[in-house]
Amino acid sequence: MSQIRFQASGLKVHQAADVIDSQITLDADVVIVGSGAGGAVSAYELARQGKRVVVLEAGPYVPSQAFTEDFTQSLHDLYQDQGGQANSSGDLLVLQGACVGGSTVVNGCVCFRTPDFILQDWQRDFGLSELTEAELAPYFDEVEKNLSVHDNGEHEIARHGQVIREGAKKLGWSVKPLRRNIRQCGLTGHCLSGCKTERKQSMLVTYLPWAQAYGASIYSDTRVEKVLTENGEASGVEAVITRHDGTVAASMTVKAPRVILAAGAVQTPVLLLKSGLANRSGQVGRNFACHPSLLVAARYPQPIHPWRGALLGVHVDEFMHPDKGGFVLEDGGFGLVEMTMLAEPGTGKPFMDYMADARYLSGLVTLIHDHNVGTIEWDGERKAINYQLSNADFPSMQRAIKAAARLHLASGASEVYVPASDKRVIRSEADIDDQVDSLENAPQHLRMVSYHPQGTCRMGADPDASVVKANGETHDVPGLYVADASLLPTSIIVNPQITVYALATRIARHMS
Ligand SMILES: Cc1cc2nc3c(=O)[nH]c(=O)nc-3n(C[C@H](O)[C@H](O)[C@H](O)COP(=O)(O)OP(=O)(O)OC[C@H]3O[C@@H](n4cnc5c(N)ncnc54)[C@H](O)[C@@H]3O)c2cc1C
Repeated sequence: MSQIRFQASGLKVHQAADVIDSQITLDADVVIVGSGAGGAVSAYELARQGKRVVVLEAGPYVPSQAFTEDFTQSLHDLYQDQGGQANSSGDLLVLQGACVGGSTVVNGCVCFRTPDFILQDWQRDFGLSELTEAELAPYFDEVEKNLSVHDNGEHEIARHGQVIREGAKKLGWSVKPLRRNIRQCGLTGHCLSGCKTERKQSMLVTYLPWAQAYGASIYSDTRVEKVLTENGEASGVEAVITRHDGTVAASMTVKAPRVILAAGAVQTPVLLLKSGLANRSGQVGRNFACHPSLLVAARYPQPIHPWRGALLGVHVDEFMHPDKGGFVLEDGGFGLVEMTMLAEPGTGKPFMDYMADARYLSGLVTLIHDHNVGTIEWDGERKAINYQLSNADFPSMQRAIKAAARLHLASGASEVYVPASDKRVIRSEADIDDQVDSLENAPQHLRMVSYHPQGTCRMGADPDASVVKANGETHDVPGLYVADASLLPTSIIVNPQITVYALATRIARHMS
């Protein structure tokens, strides 16, 4: 007998509002926790193999037509903790999607393969000898084809990208169009609020419907609370289905001999810690890295209108290799809400002046190759993200700010704003060292944001030093897998979605 009602249109997601019974019990071959990059790809790959797949997603199902293109509303509707997820000291915003499709619904579409120098580190330091560039290439080829990944065409490089490209060329720095997973971009710049016209090839409009076509079931509003084991092997999960008013609609048990955790790099370790599983190494929740980034904004003499055109156009990869600096700069379009969240407009009159000049502003997003110094903790009631930019990484951050300032100035900017707690404005080359060298690596000093949490259940050959094997299975619990950004043993310096898709594809294909 059916335990839920079915909706008439859209992706067939079983939502809390459809639940009839207060206890739901399902049998599956594989249960997948989370429907973002790792979860959706795993679901498709396994359903395609004929497996009975159930996907459980804690966030709501929000169909694309309901996206508002209002970033404040989108933070509330689509993001983890309504966009307010932060580290313990409150100076690092950790943005993650929390909806069917996960972070892929709200991401900026930028696509990079894992750099080979990162894979070489993994082979050398973590015994991941199988993860070579040649081994992974077919997986990257496949996901890139499936998601229409392509170099931005000239029309996809907005004014903010064009000025940055001109500046980089003047400086003789390598600058390239970004690659993005989008079909016929509408150039509205609302990627971070979800793509209303479904041109972004997120999991919501690609792998999840494809998985469903092969028979996978998707449950939204369903938070997995515990992973179950029998005789030391994975046997399923327990979850709670919660209505949007906060009341509990049902408890759920899914019995399955394969459990894949793809709840993202903050929630996957929390779930393992809550379940008391797979932590013989003591590494669950450790090694959190996040590419702490800054939005370095600048004022130009001519209007740029940073909210017009495609969100992200070009990047400077001149300094990507750690020997050359260990950072990447991406030209970032941004709207008014992002300006106030991420830049440093001051308060009162300075704030009003800054916002009044909004159309003259342009941004650069810095990404640094940080070390895995953070931890995710669970105290029985709530999670904590403990992360401070390490002193070892601070010089990288300073180099990235200096390069961003130099690039803005070369591109014609008259003022560059350092997103620090004390107002710092750079007006000429001569100001750069003074303003940036005197920055302190102290809590609450830099306005940092992470779009890329990683590393909290790292892969490795050594069961004493890592949580999962190269095939994604935990060292300790047969049948329990991790297939999300928690896997990455080091930060990868570039935007991680393609790495997660490729690894999840490989994990599903190797699953017995
Ligand atoms: C604003 C933003 C912009 C970004 N831009 C880019 C970009 O341009 N390019 C790029 O490469 N990357 C980008 N990223 C990062 C990229 O989207 C992520 O690296 C990737 O989606 C991570 O995949 P994942 O499977 O680890 O987690 P996610 O895609 O975050 O999916 C995890 C899912 O699990 C669900 N979940 C959590 N806990 C539970 C639970 N207990 N039970 C059930 N479900 C649970 C969550 O609600 C979420 O939907 C961006 C991210 C954000 C937030």
